[in-house]
Amino acid sequence: MPLKKDVVVIGAGAAGMMCAIEAGKRGRSVLLLDHASKLAEKIRISGGGRCNFTNRHTGPDNFLSHNPNFCRSALARFTPQDFVALVEKHHIPYHEKKLGQLFCDGSSQQIIDLLRHECDAAGVAWQMPCRVNNVSRVNGASAGFMLETDRGTLTSDTLVIATGGLSIPQIGASAYGYRIAEQFNITITPLRPALVPLIFAPEQLDGFSTLPGIAVDAAVSCNGARFRDGLLITHRGLSGPAILQISSYWQPGTPIHIDLLPDLDVTSWLFDQKHSSALLSNLLTQHLPRRLAEAWVKATIPEQAEVPVNRYGNKALKQIAAQLHDWQVIPDGTAGYKKAEVTLGGVDTRELSSKTMEAKKVPGLYFVGEVVDVTGHLGGFNFQWAWASGYAAGQFV
Ligand SMILES: Cc1cc2nc3c(=O)[nH]c(=O)nc-3n(C[C@H](O)[C@H](O)[C@H](O)COP(=O)(O)OP(=O)(O)OC[C@H]3O[C@@H](n4cnc5c(N)ncnc54)[C@H](O)[C@@H]3O)c2cc1C
Repeated sequence: MPLKKDVVVIGAGAAGMMCAIEAGKRGRSVLLLDHASKLAEKIRISGGGRCNFTNRHTGPDNFLSHNPNFCRSALARFTPQDFVALVEKHHIPYHEKKLGQLFCDGSSQQIIDLLRHECDAAGVAWQMPCRVNNVSRVNGASAGFMLETDRGTLTSDTLVIATGGLSIPQIGASAYGYRIAEQFNITITPLRPALVPLIFAPEQLDGFSTLPGIAVDAAVSCNGARFRDGLLITHRGLSGPAILQISSYWQPGTPIHIDLLPDLDVTSWLFDQKHSSALLSNLLTQHLPRRLAEAWVKATIPEQAEVPVNRYGNKALKQIAAQLHDWQVIPDGTAGYKKAEVTLGGVDTRELSSKTMEAKKVPGLYFVGEVVDVTGHLGGFNFQWAWASGYAAGQFV
């Protein structure tokens, strides 16, 4: 006889565990299964090992989706404060780092332990590691699912897909959720790595060989989005929070715009210096690291690099100011899913109920978390979506 459960959740990550907890609390018999042998590795490595578990300022504007309104309902029903209440219930010390980002004082393992504990309290059963080989409707009927796994056959009334996105395949990410969507003729929006470093072609890196490791506070914009945060120059291109944020908006072939001196009126400052006999790169060291100032001047205005500032005309000064506020670079690509924090795109939200996360054309099939076409900015928003969408589905499965 196959093992029978009310609810099977595939994927024991952030969203899957939250959904299982809520369904278990409603008295549903729940089985949570995952193909990994270690629980919730993505939570463990998140936030530099301290898990940026939510953001106090979460709102729909912090998410990218083909349907920006889809996330509203779930976010309203499980708020950052609701997750904070859980963290406090488990006596986990935490702090706000900046911009509403909440991190554990200790280790992200504490969040995994919290979820595991809540699952146990809600009577959730586990199978890990467990590989699902096939999913089908029970006897071809319109309700119920049959799962053939490497641990035997299971049946369930409802099936929740919480298998996350494609980023960091080395710790268990897979395309399984998208494959299940395809099996049931559910549309998937185009997928690409996001919150990811941007890389340059080798010839673009010429002249920048001395710069890896340099970090500045910058404002980076692209395709209507703008982020003010740290920018880090790497051996392959650009990284740091401002770049990770803008990567979600960047399209191949288009420039990103970097304001290297967002707090300075560069035109006025340069006009104050117009009688100086110093080289521009030397003057710029008042505001930028020396190596960056030198490389930027050589790359941007090579013909004027060795000319003292008092020989520049007003037009040239204005142009230089404009370029410092709008340094345009066209990345060659991204560092890919191996380095991306999330996958942009996913199960098309038009296919799902925003109230329950249930697939409109497949009663009993639910999608939660990152597998859905809802992608958060950097800063705790992706976990908040995982908690909120898992919670929403957990009330109905
Ligand atoms: C390095 C890094 C740091 C991050 N830091 C943060 C942060 O600090 N704050 C934040 O908000 N977000 C952060 N994120 C993003 C966040 O981790 C994800 O958005 C979130 O984990 C998504 O939750 P999920 O439950 O949808 O998917 P996941 O947490 O990825 O869980 C999916 C689960 O499904 C399992 N699975 C996959 N395929 C199968 C299969 N075929 N069969 C069975 N099981 C399967 C996986 O093993 C995994 O356990 C970070 C991401 C990375 C990569």
